[in-house]
Amino acid sequence: MTRWSVDALGTASPSSSGPGVVIVGASLSGLRAARSLREHGYHGPLRLIGDEADRPYDRPPLSKKVFSAPVLDDTSFELADHQAFPATWQLGVAAVRLDAQERHLTLSDGSVVDFETVVIATGARPRRLDTDPSMPEGVLTLRTRSDAVRLRSLMAPKRRLVIVGGGFIGSELASAAAEAGHDTTLVMRDAHALAPYGEAVGSLVSAMHHDAGVRVHSNRHVTGVTRGPSGTVSGLRTSRGWVPADVVVVAIGATPNTEWLAESGLVLDPGIRVDAQGRALGHDGRHLPHVLAVGDVASRPHPLVGDGSVSLPHWSNAVETGTAAGRLLATGRWSAASLPSFWSDIHGARIRSIGLPQLAHTHTVTERDPDKRRLVVEYRRGHSLVGALTVNRTSRLAALHQLVDHDLTTGQHLHEEIPDAHAGPTVHSPHRPHQGPEG
Ligand SMILES: Cc1cc2nc3c(=O)[nH]c(=O)nc-3n(C[C@H](O)[C@H](O)[C@H](O)COP(=O)(O)OP(=O)(O)OC[C@H]3O[C@@H](n4cnc5c(N)ncnc54)[C@H](O)[C@@H]3O)c2cc1C
Repeated sequence: MTRWSVDALGTASPSSSGPGVVIVGASLSGLRAARSLREHGYHGPLRLIGDEADRPYDRPPLSKKVFSAPVLDDTSFELADHQAFPATWQLGVAAVRLDAQERHLTLSDGSVVDFETVVIATGARPRRLDTDPSMPEGVLTLRTRSDAVRLRSLMAPKRRLVIVGGGFIGSELASAAAEAGHDTTLVMRDAHALAPYGEAVGSLVSAMHHDAGVRVHSNRHVTGVTRGPSGTVSGLRTSRGWVPADVVVVAIGATPNTEWLAESGLVLDPGIRVDAQGRALGHDGRHLPHVLAVGDVASRPHPLVGDGSVSLPHWSNAVETGTAAGRLLATGRWSAASLPSFWSDIHGARIRSIGLPQLAHTHTVTERDPDKRRLVVEYRRGHSLVGALTVNRTSRLAALHQLVDHDLTTGQHLHEEIPDAHAGPTVHSPHRPHQGPEG
C-alpha cells in the first residue's frame, strides 16, 4: 500500500517546558492525536479542550444501536483512549477564537489558553432543514450521544419516525428503527438510497429497506414542517404530498465546525485547508507549522484529487490523521494511509468502500447475487480504478485495494475532468465550487 511518509521540515516541535500542545475537539481524531503524541515519546504539557461535557464516545454506534443498545446513557460507547495517556482535560467548554500569530485560544468561559502547537479536531455538525424559521419539538438531528438519547426517549410504541435523507446515516437509522419495530419512513430527494454510489447499490439498499418494512418516499424534496395542536411536529410537507410524522430525524449531511476560526487567517473551504502533513494553510498559501487540523474538520490534499482537496468525514480518516498528527509533532514524520475507506451496516449487510467513488465517470457491477445481498462495484475514471464498494463481499476488498492503489500511483485519473461531487467525501476542486454531501 502506498503511504505518505514525508519529513516534516518546518514543523514546530513542542518543547517540554512551554505551554505545549493544545488539542481542540476531544473526540475521535483529537484523542488519537493525543494518544499518538504520547506513544511517540512526547512528554510535555498536553491539554484537550472539548465543548461536549461527556467523556469522549464513538459516533458510529449512534445510528446503528440507538434502539438496540441495552442501555443508552452518558457512558455508552465510550472511547477507552481517554484513560490511556496523561493530559489535562477541559470538557464542556468551547474554543471561540484562535490567534494563530500570538498562539493563544480564547474559550467560551472567557479564559485564554496559550499553546506552542494547536491541533484542531472540531469535527462537523449536521445540516438542518432550512424550510422553516424555527423547528417544532420532535425534529432532531443525530450527531451526539445526547441526540441519540433524546431520539430513543421520543420513540414510544406506535410513534411514526420519518427520516429525511437516504445517505448512510439516514439508511442506518432506518435499518435500526425497523429492526426495533418502529413505524419508519425514509424521505429522500433521489430515486434510491445511497444514490451517489450508483443504481445497483441504491436499488439493493432500497430493496432492503422495503423488505424490512421501511416506507421509502423517493424523488421528494422537503418543503416544510407541520405542527400538531400541541405544537410538536405532525408531519412534513414534500414536493409530492404530506408525510405524517411524530418524530423527524434530519440526516442530510454535515458542515465542518469552523465558524470560531473566521478571524484566524486560516483558509476555510469550508473545512480547514491543510497541506499533505495536516498543517493548516494561511491566506498567503503558506502552511502554519504550529497549527494542525485533523479528522472531519480538515480538507486535505490527496493524490486522487490532484490540485484539489478533499474532506473525508469517516472514522478511519479521523483515526489516521489524528495519529499521523501526533506522530508528526513528536517525531517530525508524517505517515497516513493513502486510500480513504469506510464501512456501514444496513439491515445486517456490511458495506465497505475504498478510494473515492465520487470521482468516477463510470461504474461497473462485477459481482451481484441479490439472494445473498452481495454486490461488488468498481468505479472508474477513464481507465483508472478510483474506488470500489462491496456489500457482503469484504473478502474482495484486498485485491481491489491493490488495484486502486496501483492506478492511484500512475496518476492517470488526474487527466480527466472531475465530475460534480455527490454524497460522502466532499471534493474541492480548484475548477468548480464545493457541493455538500447528503449524510
Ligand atoms: C451517527 C453517525 C454514524 C457514523 N457512522 C460511521 C460509520 O459507520 N463509518 C464511518 O467510517 N464513519 C461513521 N461516522 C463518521 C465518524 O464518526 C466521524 O468521521 C468521526 O466521528 C470524526 O471524528 P472527529 O474527531 O474528526 O470529529 P467529531 O467526532 O465530530 O468530534 C469533534 C468534537 O469537537 C467538538 N467541538 C466542536 N467545536 C468545538 C469548539 N469550538 N471547541 C471545543 N470543542 C469543539 C465537538 O463537539 C466534538 O466533540 C458516523 C458519524 C455519525 C454522526
